[in-house]
Amino acid sequence: MKVTFIGTGDAFGSGGRFNTCIMVETDNHRRFLIDYGATSLVAMKNLGIDSNSIDAIFITHLHGDHFGGLPFFLLDAQFSKRNTPLVLVGPATFKQRLHEAREVLFSGSSETPPKFDLVIDEFAVEEPYRWTDLTITPYEVDHFCGAPPLAVRMEHEGKIVAYTGDTQWTDTLIEVCADADLMIAEAYYFEKKIKWHLDYLSLMANIDRIKPKRLVITHMSEDMLGRVDEVGCDVAEDGKVFEI
Ligand SMILES: [Zn+2]
Ligand SMILES: [Zn+2]
Repeated sequence: MKVTFIGTGDAFGSGGRFNTCIMVETDNHRRFLIDYGATSLVAMKNLGIDSNSIDAIFITHLHGDHFGGLPFFLLDAQFSKRNTPLVLVGPATFKQRLHEAREVLFSGSSETPPKFDLVIDEFAVEEPYRWTDLTITPYEVDHFCGAPPLAVRMEHEGKIVAYTGDTQWTDTLIEVCADADLMIAEAYYFEKKIKWHLDYLSLMANIDRIKPKRLVITHMSEDMLGRVDEVGCDVAEDGKVFEI
């Protein structure tokens, strides 16, 4: 699998980075995204990625920096005459929250029937969701967002990519990310502990219980970005690619 970081910022554009969006390409040339923040359509176009080449988008939680770009994506799909199927999956209440977001931002846009096959679905916690030859298992973590916040473990042809989403430390992450070929983890602060978010030192205090083959941190505040020289793992950047 090829993993491209389209956006690696927090909600506030720290470091001039775009909101969370990660693209995964599989060997059979399918492309899916994990999260689609408010700025993700701009970030994709900045990297020259055709939005109509995306087959599915999986959303970890319903904050604007993780799903707020979908109304823009869907409107762009209509106007650019997308004709290939699209699958969108998010946590419980995703269908309603997406509908509301579309109506707030582009009134009437959700009433126009798409000219492509659009499936909007919701995850059930700890129930594997199968899409083509990918299995994605969502786990509930600790983050306040008015809907179940998820971390996801994705399996494709024996390779594992795991992503913490936004969460304070929880032992659930051990199960989500155990032995992953690539673990993508939030590191919001370096050492400051705040509710609902993960700091680098808490992550590293538990990393021997997870044993990922490769670890990359993302979703960094200005504080964390100022201390990336002190970390002993990969650091995501907008446009950075990992092959696993
Ligand atoms: Zn976030
Ligand atoms: Zn969040």
